[in-house]
Amino acid sequence: MLKSITELLVVQDRDSKIQALQQELDKIPRDAAAIKQRLVDASEKFTKAKAEMQENEVTIKTIDLDNRVRKDTIQKLTAQQFETSKPEEYTALGAEVIRYQDMVDELETKELECMEKSDRLKAVFTEAETRLIQTKEAMAVEIKALTERKATNSVRIEELKTERAELIKPVSKSLLAMYDRVFAKKGATSIVPLNGNQCGSCHMKVIADTVSRTINEKEVSQCDNCAAFLYSV
Ligand SMILES: [Zn+2]
Repeated sequence: MLKSITELLVVQDRDSKIQALQQELDKIPRDAAAIKQRLVDASEKFTKAKAEMQENEVTIKTIDLDNRVRKDTIQKLTAQQFETSKPEEYTALGAEVIRYQDMVDELETKELECMEKSDRLKAVFTEAETRLIQTKEAMAVEIKALTERKATNSVRIEELKTERAELIKPVSKSLLAMYDRVFAKKGATSIVPLNGNQCGSCHMKVIADTVSRTINEKEVSQCDNCAAFLYSV
């Protein structure tokens, strides 16, 4: 293998590692935002469930109060009914008692419905509360992992860059510039084996001249199609 290709293969190895670590680093803000969004969603569900549960409790209390007021009225009307000596008034008061009793029945039905709803809303609230706690715990762990990844990757990238600075020393400036352009497009498959007459990167057939130049190893050869550097195996 050409000496320059051997040298560049090692550079490609470091560049690929740097690229992969950098891609992970670039993803971190997106990952962190997704984690935070999950917490926002869980908090919103919790707040909504709590509000619905509290609202229902207030409704139950209001119904209860309304009911008591009506029951008091029924007692007063019944007392008045038995005190009166006028038959029309007796009948009218009796009708009022029935009207109030109907209202009480209606309120009691409504209260029962609210009580049943209360059980459902409490279950939803408990689930939302548990989910929120779990999300908070998971978030803390995941954010910690992201922070650690950021630190670890940054250190490793710096180490690899230092290694690379040493590794490129023997490579000619013009060849390195060519390689850098290819790497920017092709990444880890910038320097590849020639398989028969097929480029190991884009898998297209290269021309006969390229095949012989690769095999002869007198000079650096590149794929006619994708510009990947080729070496013979
Ligand atoms: Zn190619």
